[in-house]
Amino acid sequence: MNCEILCVGSELLLGSVVNTNAAFLSQELSTLGINVYHHSVVGDNPDRLKDAVAIALSRSDLVITTGGLGPTYDDLTKETVAEALGLKMVLHQDILNNMLIAFRHYGKDFPKNNVKQAYFPQGSTILPNDWGSAPSCAIEHQGKTVIMLPGPPSETKNIWNKYAKAYLEKKSDSVLFSVFCRIYGIGESALEERLADLLKNSLNPTVAPYASASEVVLRVTAKAKTVDEARALVMPVVEQIRTEVGDCLYTTEKNSMAEVVFDLLKEKNLTLAVAEDSTCGLFTTKFGDIDKEAQALYSGCVLLNAQARQNLLKVDNQADEAADAAALAAAIKEHSGCSLGLAIGKMHELTDEAGTPLATVQIALDGPYGTKTIQTPPRRRNDRANFDVITVTRALDFLRRYLLNIQL
Ligand code: ATP
Repeated sequence: MNCEILCVGSELLLGSVVNTNAAFLSQELSTLGINVYHHSVVGDNPDRLKDAVAIALSRSDLVITTGGLGPTYDDLTKETVAEALGLKMVLHQDILNNMLIAFRHYGKDFPKNNVKQAYFPQGSTILPNDWGSAPSCAIEHQGKTVIMLPGPPSETKNIWNKYAKAYLEKKSDSVLFSVFCRIYGIGESALEERLADLLKNSLNPTVAPYASASEVVLRVTAKAKTVDEARALVMPVVEQIRTEVGDCLYTTEKNSMAEVVFDLLKEKNLTLAVAEDSTCGLFTTKFGDIDKEAQALYSGCVLLNAQARQNLLKVDNQADEAADAAALAAAIKEHSGCSLGLAIGKMHELTDEAGTPLATVQIALDGPYGTKTIQTPPRRRNDRANFDVITVTRALDFLRRYLLNIQL
């Protein structure tokens, strides 16, 4: 089955709203083994919407739309799909009754326009909207399936998770099982070279790489009759990857390096305090949504100038940047009473022979396994946000290796 995601809304074309629905649905569909061949966006214009629906239906088995299910005159997705499939719009009296009850409950008059939201193409399966006013629907006709979801991302996400996904899963007689291998320390192209055979020739399971600024994720996915059968196909390939990349594979279970580090701290009953100079608190934010009750990250402080260092940690700037970072790590450890202090030091700026502006950062750890420092490799500093993400991931990996006592 191949799919097209068609998002309706002029605000998407104007760039004032980012098309997060398409990204979310694509990720979800890939876990169901459904190939997404096209994303399209069309404004709230009846003629162009009609063309977009016709094109999508002509080239895709499954079309998922988002947006245009509201009550106003320019919300035309259901009507346009019905026309393209040659179906009538029919009233669902139960949905109209529910809407009337809801309006009464909130003490509001029922605007006549809203009746429109109770009409669906003939033969539709209703996907209830327990999070908003516009119910969704799915329809199968002449070998095509169309699922229509609302525009607001939280409604799309919730309806997908509770109803639409199950609707599609029922149409398939197989299941998919995936393991995500998160790898840090080997670039995407080097990894491709080392795993060339696996990446090119694996069919079931498939191995798909995704690279970001600081890591590569390999998704290993198998299709089988049951989850157990699919898992049995996936796990030997995961072990093959582990053998090839060693301890650069930092997790197959967690969603981020911060989660892995956090669990290691808890397991070892250690607490961490962080002093950040160049990264301005970015390291600490990585722990923001991890279980705060566990208290493994005790505190983080941002030291933007010499005065802050003096006032908060009683540390003066030192010319030797490695010693400077080590002094910060020792001071934050002492002042916080934690078992571990981590410091991300100042940015050291340099230029290469071609005049490219580069920078490195010293990172230091002070804790039960001694004091250790590393210097990040020189990187371009013209994209500061990216530079900081890479520095913070390096610091997390440094901490992970320190806690596991593996080579830094
Ligand atoms: P309603 O009008 O009842 O909110 P609807 O289905 O008609 O529902 P739209 O009016 O098309 O939805 O979109 C509502 C809002 O949802 C938009 O203003 C926009 O902020 C957001 N939205 C719409 N489509 C997307 C999308 N593809 N990605 C992210 N946000 C979107």
